[in-house]
Amino acid sequence: MKTIFEKTVSGRKCTELPESGIPAYTLKAACTRAEKADLPELSELDLVRHYDALSAKAYGVDSGFYPLGSCTMKYNPKLNECAAALEGFTDVHPLQGDKSAQGALEVLYLLTEYLKEITGMDDGTLQPAAGAHGEFTSLLMIKAYFESKGGKRTKVIVPDSAHGTNPASAAMAGFEIVNIPSLADGCVDVAALKDAMDGDVAALMLTNPNTLGLFEKNIGEIAETVHKKGGLLYYDGANLNAVMGIARPGDMGFDIMHINLHKTFATPHGGGGPGSGPVLCKKRLSEFLPGRRVAKTDGGAYALKKASPKSIGNVRAFYGNFLVCVRALTYIITLGREGIKDAAQKAVLNANYMRKRVSEFLDVPHNVPCMHEFVASCEKLKEETGVSALDVAKALIDCGIHPPTIYFPLIVHEAMMFEPTETESKETIDGAVEMLRSVIEAARTNPQELKNAPKTTPVGRPDEVKAARKPIVAFGKIPR
Ligand SMILES: *Cc1c(COP(=O)(O)O)cnc(C)c1O
Repeated sequence: MKTIFEKTVSGRKCTELPESGIPAYTLKAACTRAEKADLPELSELDLVRHYDALSAKAYGVDSGFYPLGSCTMKYNPKLNECAAALEGFTDVHPLQGDKSAQGALEVLYLLTEYLKEITGMDDGTLQPAAGAHGEFTSLLMIKAYFESKGGKRTKVIVPDSAHGTNPASAAMAGFEIVNIPSLADGCVDVAALKDAMDGDVAALMLTNPNTLGLFEKNIGEIAETVHKKGGLLYYDGANLNAVMGIARPGDMGFDIMHINLHKTFATPHGGGGPGSGPVLCKKRLSEFLPGRRVAKTDGGAYALKKASPKSIGNVRAFYGNFLVCVRALTYIITLGREGIKDAAQKAVLNANYMRKRVSEFLDVPHNVPCMHEFVASCEKLKEETGVSALDVAKALIDCGIHPPTIYFPLIVHEAMMFEPTETESKETIDGAVEMLRSVIEAARTNPQELKNAPKTTPVGRPDEVKAARKPIVAFGKIPR
């Protein structure tokens, strides 16, 4: 497909306006540029067709199956969008007085209360703008906590199955990272944790269910090990889909955590935002929370509280991504206590159904009951046929489904991580399984063919290393 600049015809334009009755004004030379701006020139119809064709090439959860593991690409009811589009929410100003913004303050208050209930925590902030931002915020709070006790702890333990943002956030907050391995069953090696745990460790960062989709069965012992040495337990709650309404991190012994509202709680994501990564914590960490938070006064009105003197300060302007909070609150209220639990149970059921069916023809290294996702491996397939997880993923694009997450977690070679989510029907999952089966069969009969996939997209295989190392992020003409 041609870019809009390649479609340009000099002198062509979109609008034909009647002559203006206002006299022309000549700008001072200092306000103008010498060169003509390099803008595309197209007719209105060509312009509309260009962007319509582009939009049809985008793939989202509204287009089809999107089993991107660790991302929870679930369908988000349009009702949430309606709520977020209400004028009272879109037109509210962050500096508006409390009295005229009671509804907006109530949203922030209620959402925090519900999230406390869902996670088993005592307090929280909605300010962080993403999961990684929530991690970073929490680590600053953990740091402030130890400093307020007059000590300094320098290390953070991160298991090898962790999401890449965990070590990155800990490093950004100035901690030294200590890696601990997973056992063959995919869970944390408690003996290794005991060895690593000393008086310099500020926290253990843990994802539970972990990135293999497995519930850490030794979580009680893990919590005890960390707490015994005075450390704190951090919960990466980016993916709460399998446990919400059923198990609470606060009850498992975690002290502080973040949630990704844009994964579990109904904000569509994938294009880079806006997101929201609320941080929830136990009482002893409360005074370090960032930002001004909402309190309910005795009279039932909502008011902004001054931040505590020990607060780590703002991590973002104002109150976070407010409309993402509106969507999350709408989602929680519509589902209710039973509905939330039901969604979690169906997410787990769908993942296990798909795991069982996929394991009939593709290796699933930890083939035991999983939570909301599971990890298959193309390692054997690659040995036998030369076809890698990347090739299979690319071939799935030609089947019309979004590929799963690949090469993560790192502890499974040639990993393919599937997360069907609770919102997919049996028919959709069956259809995807059959397509995956046909791709795996094609790998055995005609491996070369898969090396050329995808064939149905405008760009076949981009140079991923170059795209990551030398991204061109400016709008406008692509430099040649
Ligand atoms: C997505 C994810 C994150 C990071 O969340 P962002 O909003 O992308 O910053 C952290 N941990 C886990 C386990 C995740 O799945």
